[in-house]
Amino acid sequence: MDEMMIKNIVREVLMKANLDISCKSAQGVFEDVNDAIDAAYTAQRDWYVNYKVEDRRRIIEAIRVVSRENAPMFAKMIHEETGMGRYEDKIAKNLAVIDKTPGVECLVTDAISGDSGLMIEEQAPFGVIGAITPSTNPTETIINNTISMIGGGNAVVFNVHPGAKKVCAVCLQILHKTIVENGGPANLITMQREPDMEAVNKLTASPKIRLMVGTGGMGMVNALLKSGKKTIGAGAGNPPVVVDDTADLDKTASEIYRGASFDNNLLCLAEKETFVMDNVADELIRKMCACGAHLITPQETEQLLKVVFLEKDGQYSVNKKWVGKDASLILESIGIKDADTRLVLCEVPHDHPFVLVEQLMPVMPIVRCKTFEDCVKYAVIAENGNRHTASMFSKNVDHMTRFAKEIETTIFTKNAATLVGVGIGGEGHTTMTIAGPTGEGLTCARSFTRRRRCMLADGGLRVI
Ligand code: NAD
Repeated sequence: MDEMMIKNIVREVLMKANLDISCKSAQGVFEDVNDAIDAAYTAQRDWYVNYKVEDRRRIIEAIRVVSRENAPMFAKMIHEETGMGRYEDKIAKNLAVIDKTPGVECLVTDAISGDSGLMIEEQAPFGVIGAITPSTNPTETIINNTISMIGGGNAVVFNVHPGAKKVCAVCLQILHKTIVENGGPANLITMQREPDMEAVNKLTASPKIRLMVGTGGMGMVNALLKSGKKTIGAGAGNPPVVVDDTADLDKTASEIYRGASFDNNLLCLAEKETFVMDNVADELIRKMCACGAHLITPQETEQLLKVVFLEKDGQYSVNKKWVGKDASLILESIGIKDADTRLVLCEVPHDHPFVLVEQLMPVMPIVRCKTFEDCVKYAVIAENGNRHTASMFSKNVDHMTRFAKEIETTIFTKNAATLVGVGIGGEGHTTMTIAGPTGEGLTCARSFTRRRRCMLADGGLRVI
C-alpha cells in the first residue's frame, strides 16, 4: 500500500468514527461534555494528519465570511440574552475579531542549516483545547478563539458562560457548519449545550485535553491554574488612565469618553479609572462633560455606590444586575431622569471602591492627584497586579516611560483610547483573549501551539 492509500484509509476510519459521534450532537453542540471531548479528539487527529496548512487558511477565510454576514444577528442576540452593552458596539467588536484575528500566517518556522545538518523548529498543535469564555464578549471570543486555535492545528471544546449559552450555541453551530461545508472535519469545535462547573472539571481532568484557555474573571483563571493542567489564563483587568499636565486635553477627554463608554465598558481593557494632575483636573472634567459625560455630585456618587455595588463587612463587590447597563439607566437609578449620555463621571478619592473594584459599567471615577508621581502610585495600586492594560495621556516621554515601567501591563496605550490596544482603530492584531497572568499576551494561533524541533543530521540538504 502506498502512503496515499494509507492516508485515505485513516481518513475513512476517522470519518466513520466522527459520523457515529455526530449522531449525539447538533453541529458540534453536545448534551454531554465527555462526548464533546471524544468527538473533538477524533476531529483533531483528522485535522492534523490529513489536512494541510492551506486547508486551515481556506476554512478560516470561510469562517470570516460567514461570521461577517451574521455579526449583526450575533450582536442583537447577545444584547437580548445578556442584557448588557450596546448593539452597535457589539457589531464593531465582532467585526474586529473577524477581520483582525490572525490565521496561519503567524505560525513561523525557524531553520538553521549548518555543516552538521538542518534543524527546523515549528509551531505544532497542542491537540484538543478546553476553552472557557466570558459573558462580556461571547461570540467575539468564540470566533476569535476558533480562528486562532484551529489555525494552530487544534480542536476546541468550549465551556461558555451560562448567561450567554444560547447565542454561543448558535454561533458555534454556524461556524461548525461552515467548517464541514468547506471540507473540514465535523466536531473540530464543540461545546456542551448546558455549560456548568462540572463540565469545566471534566475538561481539566480529561487526558484528551492538552491545554486549558480561560478568558474571564480571576476566580475562573485561578481555578484553572490550580487544576494542574497547562493553562493560558486571560483574567480580569482594571485599567487605569494617567493624565499629566502636558496632555492635549481635548483629545484626552474625547478618547477617554469614547473608550470608557464603548459597549458600556464591558471590555476588560476599557478605561476604568482616571488619575489626573490637580492643575489640569478641572479642565479635563469640563472637557469630558463637553464631550457628553454626565458629572454627578459627591452625594449622588455615594447614592450610586449603594445601588450598583454590594457591601459586606466593608468589602465591596459589583452588583451584577448593573454590569454593562446604559449610563442613562444607571443615572435613573439615583433619580436623574432623561440624561442623554454614554458615560457617568464622578470625582472620588484614590481608595474609593469605584476605583479599586473592576466595575464593567460606564461610570468613570476621576481621582485628582497633586503630582505625576502620585498619579503613578495610585494607578499601580488600582491595577492590582493584573498586568492587563493601562493608558497615559502626555507629551512627556520620560513620564510615559516611567509609568509604563511601573505599571507592567500587557497593553500600554499612549494618547488614545485603550481600544486601539486590540487593533480597534489601531495597528496590530485583535484578540479577545489577553493572557496577562500567564504571559502569552495578545493571543493568536501561535499562542496555542507547542514548539517542536525536527532534525536532518550530517549535512543533509546543504547546497553550499
Ligand atoms: P466570569 O469569570 O464570571 O465567567 C467567565 C467564565 O468562567 C464563564 O464561562 C464562567 O462560567 C466560568 N467560571 C466562573 N467561575 C469559575 C470557576 N470558579 N471555575 C471555572 N470556571 C468558572 O466572567 P464574565 O463576567 O463572563 O466576564 C468578565 C470578566 O472577564 C472580567 O473580569 C473581565 O476583565 C474578564 N475578561 C478578561 C479578558 C481577557 O482577555 N483578559 C477578556 C474578557 C473578559
